[in-house]
Formats: sequence, structure tokens, C-alpha cells
Amino acid sequence: MRAIIKPDAQQKIELLGELAQLDCDGEPVLSNQQRQKRGFLSDSIVQVQRPDGPMTVLRTLQSSVCEKDCHYCPFRAGRSRTQRVSFSPDELASEFDAMQAGGVVKGLFLSSGIVGGGVKAMDKMLATAEILRRKYDYRGYVHLKIMPGSERAQLEQAIRLADRISINLEGANAKRLAVLAPQKDMRGELLPVIHWMRQIAREMPWQVKIPSLVTQFVVGPAGESDQEILTGVDWLYRRRTLSRAYYSRFNPITDTPLENIAPTPPIRERRLYQADWLLRFYGFKLSELPFDPNGALPANADPKLLWAAKHLSERPVEINLAPRSELLRVPGIGPKSADAILQARRQERLKDLSQLKKTGAVINRASSFILLDGHRPPRQLRLPAT
Ligand code: SF4
Repeated sequence: MRAIIKPDAQQKIELLGELAQLDCDGEPVLSNQQRQKRGFLSDSIVQVQRPDGPMTVLRTLQSSVCEKDCHYCPFRAGRSRTQRVSFSPDELASEFDAMQAGGVVKGLFLSSGIVGGGVKAMDKMLATAEILRRKYDYRGYVHLKIMPGSERAQLEQAIRLADRISINLEGANAKRLAVLAPQKDMRGELLPVIHWMRQIAREMPWQVKIPSLVTQFVVGPAGESDQEILTGVDWLYRRRTLSRAYYSRFNPITDTPLENIAPTPPIRERRLYQADWLLRFYGFKLSELPFDPNGALPANADPKLLWAAKHLSERPVEINLAPRSELLRVPGIGPKSADAILQARRQERLKDLSQLKKTGAVINRASSFILLDGHRPPRQLRLPAT
């Protein structure tokens, strides 16, 4: 008879770090060599961007046991080759406290498989966060994923405990979600969380800092268009409900119902992120994005460049006069360089590309779309067909 060896806490972190990779918040931070040196083999330690700079975060799960059958997920119920491990709230809080006290990580991103329903799974995650905050007096970064089926009171508790909250919509709409995760209910389980988040934010005393809300989409296997995904995201951004969306390109996993579906090309994920930035930071409207007749963002060039090739190549932007909103329309000029241009032109007129370069603008992208003191600079970019 084969002996059953129970994994210790560190081994659980390793195993659970693999599942947590499905969540997009954070990039793996350690090279293979660094991981071995620190005794970590999985991608459980990631780096997330915070307003005050990058932060190393333990990205893990309360449990990899799951009763749901999401068709893209290696941890779906009944997939026999998946190793299942769980943390009790005390065990995970204690392990995390040791890691953060030792300087290994500075924050926690906690998700979970679902056993006994979303409410029960969420309760365990909340208990872990409560122990960290109360028993260990931990004041650092906590990102909690809200389990589908959680109750409003649990969201309120999560808001008090976490700095960031995620509810993963996965599909562009209910029809697409049904292909990806037929047991998840967009209207009954996922969208209410977003609605409650708005309500609670209005009701909470002003002293309570409301965490940012993020979501994630599985891109590709449900046959949705880029326009379908971005239409919902844009609506949430405009209502100031969502801080950001993550777009996770699909990779087929063996022994799942979607194992024979082709992987989503990386360029599609990239174009979605570029379009998302235009909506969030550059003042673009959804209707201005260059979707093709099928609702896809073209792969041949980034959406801002395509927009500019159509609208600015014959009507260039005068760098010395344009308001910030127009500067942001120019490829190669982002929010920081737009601010730097406004600052620089208070001191002097910008007449050549070397002055513009000092603002941080990428001049080989910008030069086809601008005037410097009334003159077109030498163009440096071959424009894509529009
Ligand atoms: S709920 Fe779905 S996505 Fe989450 S662990 Fe279970 S099967 Fe995977």
C-alpha cells in the first residue's frame, strides 16, 4: 500500500501557487535560480504594481479542491491528475505571517477553489484575512477574490479587510460565460457583486477606504469578439465601478472540455490591453477604437496608431498649442510625457524633436502626427493601412 504523505505548509504554497497563476494580478518575480535559492519552485511569489511602486506578493489559494466544472480550468471537479490541497485559515495566516516577517513578501493575493458553495469558500478566505489583521496585526496589502455566490455581508467584510477585490466575470456576457463555466451565473452571482460594491461604497462611513475592484476575462474559447469584451468593460469604467480589467489569453489544458480548442494568439491579449489603456487613461471612447467588421482589433498595429493614421496624419497636432487631451491622442505621447510637454512649453517653444524627446515622448512614433512650431518634423514611421 502506498503511504500518503501530507504536504507541509511550504509544499502547499508551491502547489497552490500553480493554480493561482490563472489569476492575472501580478507577474512572476523570481527567476528559476532565485526560486531555488529561496526554496520556492512555483510562481507563488509575484510582483504587483501599486501606486507607490512594485510590491512582491504571495499569490495563493485557500484550497485547490473545487466542485465547479469550469471548462478551461485545470482544477475543475473530477480532473484526476490535479493535486488537491487546502489550508485552514490559521495555517495560511501563520505561514503568510512568517513569510512577510522574513521579508520574502509584502502582500497577499488570496483566491480559492469552491467546496460546499461560494459562501463557505468565501468564509474561509475571510477568516484567513481576519486572523492576519487581528492576531498578527498585519497592515499590509491584501487582495481577496470574491467567490461566485458570496453574500453581500461577506463583500462588506472583504471591503473592510482588503486593499483590492476581484470578481472574475470570465466571459464577455452570460452567453459567453456559459461556454466557459456553465455552473457560474453571470446575472445571479457575478454582476450582483459589482452592483453591491457601488452600493456599499456609497453607504460606508467616509473613514473606510474602499478597495479597488478588478476583474478578469478568459479570452478566446467562447468565440467572443474584442468589441464584446470591451463594451462591458467600458460600461463599468464609465460608471467608475471597475479599476481595471485583466485579459487572460486562453491556453488549452489537457483533460478539460476545451482541450482541443486552439490557444489564443498573444497579440490578441496585447491589443486588448492597449485598447483598455486608451479607454482608461487616454480619453478614447469605445466607438473610436478601430474594430474591424467582426469586432476584432486589428493585429497589424496598435489601436492608437491606427486611429492616428486615420485622423491625424493629415491634421497633425501642434505640440505648442494642443490641450492635454489632444496631446494624448498622439502615438508616442502618454500621460507623463503629455504633462512634461505642458510643463516644458511654459518655459520655451518646442521647435525640434530633440526638445520633444526630453519630455519622454517616443519621437519615432509621434513625428508623423505633430507640428513643432508650425512645421512638420521629419517622419520616422511607415504608417499602417487604415
Ligand atoms: S471555480 Fe472554476 S475556475 Fe475556480 S477553481 Fe473551480 S473550476 Fe477552477
